[in-house]
Amino acid sequence: MDDCIFCKIIKGEIPSYKVYEDEVVYAFLDISQTTPGHTLVVPKKHVKDIFEYDADLAAAVFARIPKIARAIKASDPAIEGMNILNNNGEVAYQSVFHSHFHLIPRYQDDDFRIQFVNKQEQYDDAKYQAVLDKITKQL
Ligand code: 5GP
Ligand code: ZN
Repeated sequence: MDDCIFCKIIKGEIPSYKVYEDEVVYAFLDISQTTPGHTLVVPKKHVKDIFEYDADLAAAVFARIPKIARAIKASDPAIEGMNILNNNGEVAYQSVFHSHFHLIPRYQDDDFRIQFVNKQEQYDDAKYQAVLDKITKQL
């Protein structure tokens, strides 16, 4: 895609700190370095978000992630874990509309925060079932 910043990075038209490349993915340091080693794994094929993947592309892209994740983890003994995030849609904090996976290494006492709010007390069996029915009838 002509006006896509990640397509330009993949083609080498915009410089990047390349972590890994093969025929399916391009991985590079996220400019923001939320934590040291923060890496983006991007399919070379321009897909906007997770809703545009077919099963083969999803399988091929995710097949590359463990190897890259292990290399990042092995790069620094201070890395104790990793969040893998994929934002889809502006409401979900996607800002670049060429799909990508964030690999965010985690260190003791780093300042990266994600909050999962537990709303379990607002749900009874009927409410779980209603939510479930709406989803499963689309599959
Ligand atoms: P999103 O918010 O879409 O999930 O993530 C987009 C990410 O792309 C952000 O974390 C941002 O720092 C990163 N980013 C945006 N522009 C560039 C760029 O030109 N180079 C690199 N390396 N990262 C970028
Ligand atoms: Zn693109």
